[in-house]
Amino acid sequence: MNKQDLQNKNQTEICPYAKKCGGCTYQGIPYAKQLKKKKAYVDELLNGIVKVDKIVGMKQPLYYRNKVHAAFDRDRKGNIISGIYQESTHKVVSVDRCMLEDQIADAIICDIRRMLPSFKITVYDERTGYGLFRHCLVRRAFATGEVMVVLVLTSPILPSKNNFIKALRDKHPEITTIVLNVNDKYTSMVLGEKEKTLFGKGYITDILLGKRFRISSKSFYQVNPVQTEILYQTAIDYAGLTGDERVIDAYCGIGTIGIIAADRAKEVIGVELNRDAVRDAIVNVKENGLKNVNIYCNDAGKFMMGMAADSAHADVVFMDPPRAGSDEHFLDSLVCLAPKKVVYISCNPETLARDLKLLQIRGYEPVKACAVDMFAWTSHVETVCLLIKQNL
Ligand code: SAH
Repeated sequence: MNKQDLQNKNQTEICPYAKKCGGCTYQGIPYAKQLKKKKAYVDELLNGIVKVDKIVGMKQPLYYRNKVHAAFDRDRKGNIISGIYQESTHKVVSVDRCMLEDQIADAIICDIRRMLPSFKITVYDERTGYGLFRHCLVRRAFATGEVMVVLVLTSPILPSKNNFIKALRDKHPEITTIVLNVNDKYTSMVLGEKEKTLFGKGYITDILLGKRFRISSKSFYQVNPVQTEILYQTAIDYAGLTGDERVIDAYCGIGTIGIIAADRAKEVIGVELNRDAVRDAIVNVKENGLKNVNIYCNDAGKFMMGMAADSAHADVVFMDPPRAGSDEHFLDSLVCLAPKKVVYISCNPETLARDLKLLQIRGYEPVKACAVDMFAWTSHVETVCLLIKQNL
C-alpha cells in the first residue's frame, strides 16, 4: 500500500467488524483528530498538575499490535470461528483481519482455524466445558521476525501433534516456536499455569533500542514496539542520567527500561512480581552482557520499603505500574527511599493524575510530561512524567 492509500485508509476506512467488536472506540475518526482528542483528555486530567508538552503519534497507525489473541468457538451452524470477544460479553465475534493487529499473526490464526476440522480437534464450549481448543495467542518480534504461537487447550495432549506442527510450519515457516498452554479451568483468564514447548525454544527475542529481549508467553511486553522505543527513550531522557546514578526500575516486566538505561547509569535494580517475567529479565541482563543490573522478584513497594529500612539509597526511580496505577504502600516506599527523580510511565492518565497529586503533596513536583500514542484507534494513551524531589 502506498503512502497516499494509507492516508486515505486512515481517514475514512470503517472496519467491517466495528459494530460487533467494539475494540476500536475511535473507529471512523481521522488519526490526526484521534491524537487531538487524546491530548485534550490527558491535558484535562493533568490540568493544574503538570503541562503536557505534546503527544507523539504513529507515522503509520495500522497493524501495529505485535500480540494477537483469538478466542475460538462455533457459530450457530456449527462452523468453527475465531476472533474477538464482543465488548463486555463472552460471545466470540468472528474476525479474520484486524486493522490494529499484525497481519502475519492474523493469517496464522486463520490457518490454524482452518486446520482444526481435518485434525479432528474440537473447540471448547464454555457452556458445557466440553472440547479442547480454547484460544490462540500469536506474538511476533518485529525486529527479528521471530514468531511464537501459543495454543491454549483444555488438555496437555494435542492429537497428531507432530503432523499438526508440520502442517502449520509448512504454511508458516516464519513460526519459530510453538507452546501448548493448558487451561482446564472455568475462567475468563486466557492462559493457564502449565505449559510445554511443542516446537522451538519456547520464547522469542525482540530488539528495542539496540538491546535484546527474550519474551515468553506469560511475560508482559508492550504491544506496540515502534512507539515503545519512543516511550522508553523519552523516559530515559527525562531521567537525565550521567552514569553515576543508582536507578530502580519498578514494575520492570522483562527488564526493558532498566536494561536500556543501564549503559547510562552506575547501577540498575529491577523489581517485578511475575515470576516468568523475572526469569526473562534475568536472562535479558545476561544476554545483553550487563554487569550493573540486578533483578528481584518482589512487590515493588515492599522491596523499596526494605531498601529504605536498610538506609540504602536510590537516585532515580522509573515506575511503570499496571492500569490500576500504584498503591499507597508503593508511594510511601518511594517517599521513604527519597530518590531525587521519579519518572512515572503510565498507561492510564486517570490513575496517573491521582498518583501525581499524592506525590505532589509529599514533596515530588511533576515538572514535565509527554503523551505517546501506543494504541491508535482506541481511547488508550500512554503518558510519561518527570517528578523532582523538592527540598521541603
Ligand atoms: N516496564 C515494563 C512492564 C510494565 S507493565 C515494560 O514496559 O514492559 C507492569 C508490570 O508490573 C507487569 O509486568 C506486572 O507483572 C508488574 N507488577 C504488577 N504489580 C506489581 C507489584 N506490586 N510489584 C512489582 N511488579 C508488579
